[in-house]
Amino acid sequence: MSTSNKMKLTIEAKSQNESFARSVVAAFFIQINPTLEQVEDIKTAVSEAVTNCIVHAYEGAQEGIIEISCALTENSITIDICDYGKGIDNVEQAMKPFFTTVSTGERSGMGFTVMQAFCDSVKVSSKQGLTTVQLVKKVA
Ligand code: ATP
Ligand code: MG
Repeated sequence: MSTSNKMKLTIEAKSQNESFARSVVAAFFIQINPTLEQVEDIKTAVSEAVTNCIVHAYEGAQEGIIEISCALTENSITIDICDYGKGIDNVEQAMKPFFTTVSTGERSGMGFTVMQAFCDSVKVSSKQGLTTVQLVKKVA
């Protein structure tokens, strides 16, 4: 199916931008008439991905760029969340439930598991200096 609309958002990796980013993506998503539950799912998944960029990619420095690209079809949204930070050494391991590289107990290692639970597909590609998390959510 051909893409019916696209948008791109560039934000700084500051924690105050996390709720901004999820609200912008949700506002775009409602163009294809998702249910309230589907909107909440997307907000949650985007929050997790953006938080990961802030906390892990840029190690909490509150600087660095996050690019969020969204594409709508009649019945789906594809969201690419991209950072230019430190990268993920082992993507397969990082996506396992309870895996975290933060040893302070602040993180539960459930971000990717939450994204997978709330989206139809989650794909991650990463090397040092470029990580992309792609989320796909379908509407009925
Ligand atoms: P939680 O999300 O439950 O607070 P967490 O962030 O550690 O904990 P996940 O979101 O599942 O758990 O991420 C797992 C691990 O993957 C992280 O601990 C981190 O090492 C790595 N990671 C995730 N996203 C990125 C990213 N954008 N850049 C670099 N490393 C990342
Ligand atoms: Mg996380």
